[in-house]
Amino acid sequence: MPGLRAGCYYRYAWQSHKPGFLLTDSIQADHPAPQIIPRSEHNISRADISRHALKVLYRLKDAGYQAFLVGGSVRDLLLGRHPKDFDVATDAHPEDVRALFGNSRLIGRRFRLAHVRFGSEIIEVATFRGLGTEEVASEHREVSAETGRLIRDNVYGSIEEDVWRRDFTANALYYNIADFSIWDFTGGVADIQARRLRIIGDPETRFREDPVRMLRAARFAAKLGFELDPASARIIPQLASLIDGVPPARLFDEFMKLFQSGHALQSYRQLRQYGLFEHLFPTTAAWLGPGTDARGRFLEAALASTDARVAADRPVTPMFLLGVFLWGPVADRAAAQAAQGMSDFQALAVAAADLTREQTERIAVPRRFSIPMREMLQLQIRFDKTRGARALAFLESKRFRAAYDLLLLRAAAGNADAGLAQWWTTLQGLSPEEQRRELGLGRAGPAGRRRRGRGGRRGHGADAVEGDRQPA
Ligand code: ATP
Ligand code: MG
Repeated sequence: MPGLRAGCYYRYAWQSHKPGFLLTDSIQADHPAPQIIPRSEHNISRADISRHALKVLYRLKDAGYQAFLVGGSVRDLLLGRHPKDFDVATDAHPEDVRALFGNSRLIGRRFRLAHVRFGSEIIEVATFRGLGTEEVASEHREVSAETGRLIRDNVYGSIEEDVWRRDFTANALYYNIADFSIWDFTGGVADIQARRLRIIGDPETRFREDPVRMLRAARFAAKLGFELDPASARIIPQLASLIDGVPPARLFDEFMKLFQSGHALQSYRQLRQYGLFEHLFPTTAAWLGPGTDARGRFLEAALASTDARVAADRPVTPMFLLGVFLWGPVADRAAAQAAQGMSDFQALAVAAADLTREQTERIAVPRRFSIPMREMLQLQIRFDKTRGARALAFLESKRFRAAYDLLLLRAAAGNADAGLAQWWTTLQGLSPEEQRRELGLGRAGPAGRRRRGRGGRRGHGADAVEGDRQPA
């Protein structure tokens, strides 16, 4: 699948603060036996499993441990989709895994697990989580008394315990490398067939333990086209404000998975539907208001264009969508400040800087994205100047492409002069000599000649903005 790839930096980042799973009292006291689906009755073939994941599974098994493929990879293979990454669950403890694989390291303090690295692919190996004895639990598990959030969980157990700590039934299937069967404790296979996204256990408890599960619900519903179970759909709007307490770094990781994986438009609609969007982008939500008017269409056009790029396997950068989300609030605030007497140029610069700062306090956007994003917003005013050396310098600057793509979106939404946008499009198709003439300048120098032929076809800024790309 285009878009996210295993082994990129943010995978490490979010895995390392992936929390543990559920509270003791929502773990099923009696452990029902799994339904075991033999190889002859399912479609998962080893040919579709990463050879690195197979290597890890076999080595664990040969060392006498239980080894299962688990999570999204089993779900996606059952759906005939290509998994983004392969996660392994085992009864081997992280230290045992570490000892078996020279190419592994232990990560996560709060939720300890092993990463086995093969080039750019990382196979994540998690030890089954369990109830543990009271003594072990008091030492290795921590739940916030105030919010119900699970802060730390390094209590190990059996697969029968592990399964109840996973989030959705579709994510709680285990593929056993010993005989290629699938173990289904929660009715996950039936839910996948019915395209149902069903949380395991009591929805309120599970969302309080880890509010990010609400974003995951929106994401899986969007990505898989599954219908969220009615109980979750009812409770999420009531609990949505718990997102405010999630660490900003984890929200950035979720932002990437929601909006840079090819289903950004559907993710956005799900987040809006469940009242989650306003907790990720409060100023954008306030600017949007309740409706689906021109403002909503402006955002949706950008989301659809990002999805089209991912589908075409072209690079995407988070700075573009983040900038689109902030554009409306930035323009409004700049206008208010200009009305107080600030120059238009200054007002836009200040508004872009302020709103960027406010947004990154909520979602920890790394500076390599937030800086070009702020510049892309500030540069919008430069399109008004269509003559002179400054206009030429702008045309040739490295941020031009992203700023121009935003201009096109604005023009399509009636937020910028369509004639002006067309003028900039035409300008890019001209030879350096013609460009200089159009801008009222003299003959082209060598710099102008180098830019020849950069038409307005590529779009989204990412092609032209080296270093802003989504890490691969
Ligand atoms: P993706 O396609 O995004 O990789 P995934 O289901 O594999 O989806 P991961 O974030 O890779 O999701 O996590 C792997 C598995 O770990 C999940 O399928 C789920 O069983 C479990 N898991 C991950 N995060 C949580 C969470 N916050 N709460 C409960 N279980 C979780
Ligand atoms: Mg996964």
